Amino acid sequence: MLLKGYRKKIFRPECNPSFQSLHCIAHLDDNIREVLPYLNALLGGDEYYQDPPAVTFRPQGKLITVHPEKIAINALRDEAEADKILDWLKREINEAWEKRAEIAPTYDSAPKPKILDILRLLPKTNCQECREPTCMVFAARVVEGAKGPEDCPPLGELKALKLQEYLKFFFRDY
Ligand code: SF4
Repeated sequence: MLLKGYRKKIFRPECNPSFQSLHCIAHLDDNIREVLPYLNALLGGDEYYQDPPAVTFRPQGKLITVHPEKIAINALRDEAEADKILDWLKREINEAWEKRAEIAPTYDSAPKPKILDILRLLPKTNCQECREPTCMVFAARVVEGAKGPEDCPPLGELKALKLQEYLKFFFRDY
């Protein structure tokens, strides 16, 4: 087992302590630098950084960054969600390490959805029902993983399905 444990710290963002969402930093008991390209290959990281090394994931509107000695997670609902994500990552890190002989390490970032492709599927009325100022801003939020088809009420079932199909290629859930 490469990663045996971590010490977790939960806090509200200092830039605005009134924010409802929480941040979490987990300080790792073991240095996991060597597993990062294998983890990137196994889970299809959204961005891979070589120097200093780190891999990011953006499931369900969150940003998770795995560094050699710590894991940072933002936009958490509560501590239970932090525990769920950290348990999942610990499992995946150890699995990537155990199976590294069978995995080709990847040093590339994953392809990203394109704002214009998403915009093409939106009603483009700038009605603001999604609480964003324009459809373009909404499309940018979808690229970040912070919004989805369900957040645009006028989209309609057919176009919502098309958008969901398009996004499936880029995003995964933990
Ligand atoms: S709700 Fe949909 S149509 Fe209205 S502004 Fe947002 S993305 Fe555009």
